[in-house]
Amino acid sequence: MHELAVTQDILEISLKAAQEQGASRIRAIRLSIGPFCGIVPECIQIYLDVLAKGTAAEGAKIEATLLPLRVRCRDCGRESEISRTHIACPSCGSLRLERLSGREFTVESLEVD
Ligand SMILES: [Zn+2]
Repeated sequence: MHELAVTQDILEISLKAAQEQGASRIRAIRLSIGPFCGIVPECIQIYLDVLAKGTAAEGAKIEATLLPLRVRCRDCGRESEISRTHIACPSCGSLRLERLSGREFTVESLEVD
């Protein structure tokens, strides 16, 4: 499972960040995820509940923000952010789009004690 490895990464990043801040406990982990990164926040939460047992992140909540999709239009050359439900260039309506982002995910911030 893809999410298991991702969750391990997230946990590692978060624990390190919490340690650097001198935090004893992580209450929430805020993630930004691209619409095509294939990550389901609910799955991350399930894995985190297991993986974080006995660490400072035990019981931490995953709060995910979905990022817009950045594309470049192959017809008019404009770069824009579009939603997943309306995949067309906002400037000229072309469907010939090049995807610039969408697969990334980052740990945006932590809520700690
Ligand atoms: Zn266009």
